[in-house]
Amino acid sequence: MKRRKTLILCIDAGSHDYLTASDLPTIRELAKSGFYVHANAVIPSVTNVNNVSIATGTFPEKHGITTNYHVDRATGKGEFIEDNRFLLEPTLFETAKACKFADKAALFVTKQKLLRMLEAGTDIAIAAESPPSEYIRTVGPVEPIYSAEINWWLLRAVHAVLRTDDPDLVYCSTTDWVQHKYAPDDDVSQQHLEELDRIIGNIIADDPEREIYITADHGMLEKTTAIDPGRVLIEHDIPASSIPIIKDRYVAHHGNLGGAAYVFLEDGADITQAIQTLLNTPGIEEAYSAEDAARTFRLHRERIGDIFVLADKTTVFGELETVIEPTTVRSHGSRHESYVPIIGYNSPWTATDFEYNVDVGRLFLESLR
Ligand SMILES: [Zn+2]
Repeated sequence: MKRRKTLILCIDAGSHDYLTASDLPTIRELAKSGFYVHANAVIPSVTNVNNVSIATGTFPEKHGITTNYHVDRATGKGEFIEDNRFLLEPTLFETAKACKFADKAALFVTKQKLLRMLEAGTDIAIAAESPPSEYIRTVGPVEPIYSAEINWWLLRAVHAVLRTDDPDLVYCSTTDWVQHKYAPDDDVSQQHLEELDRIIGNIIADDPEREIYITADHGMLEKTTAIDPGRVLIEHDIPASSIPIIKDRYVAHHGNLGGAAYVFLEDGADITQAIQTLLNTPGIEEAYSAEDAARTFRLHRERIGDIFVLADKTTVFGELETVIEPTTVRSHGSRHESYVPIIGYNSPWTATDFEYNVDVGRLFLESLR
């Protein structure tokens, strides 16, 4: 049997509007000889949730990662999710190696926290944020985390490792600082994607047989209003607090403002009344009890608070000093950023096999069985 080699590239916030606003001859060519699907991202449309879904081939109901910030229901204590302690499913790398599909698996990410979350089963695991010194020698000096250059560094590292180690399975995920700062038609956005496209072209020139999937974790849209759903409820005498799902340590990206939040009710609060109050609030588009949210979005029932809220197209949720305030931020997390492309090349599957970005991982796993 011919050795099968796979590269999965998740361009963070690499949604259709960004791809079409730039001149990307490689991606155009891949789509032409393979396929280009308009698919769905997992909701909440945030980075961790979607990368873990793709890299385990499962929805959050199984893998358990529903947020960047986990709140323990028993103690009320919160902590950033920055490693795999909360991950309930094996990674593609673990399964591929257990099935003897892969001798060698490699993971390339920009942010260190995603590396620690997904590195189980890998032989090579590189975070551009803090690369090993031997990579600095071959790929170039470390770039700042808040730059376009760091993603270019990352993809050059993929290219270098494909040439030297030739791993069977490679997963690469960039970071979305550029999209948080710049609209699709901005020069910086275009340069960012055009250079990534050029490096992808170099990779294919050296490794034309490799199966390639390019997808994204979410889109990115401009927001004008910030709401604190916890404060909305408190104002209506319903004791509650809320955590924006996007909340992490990389505040320069998004100011911890995102389009989805989990609401935690305090003892005695009426959930029906709380949901109705949230739904009556302009800017809040959807509100679900945990049961309904788990079923609707395939989320893990125990890890989504009491109520799941989704914002409308121009609203984000945060932990604010007031109930509502104006904002200017580009962000994601809601249903409005849950659309992603999937570009497949040398793939045994066809466009109609893909409905979610998760399917890139799910079909890979199925083919191992
Ligand atoms: Zn992202």
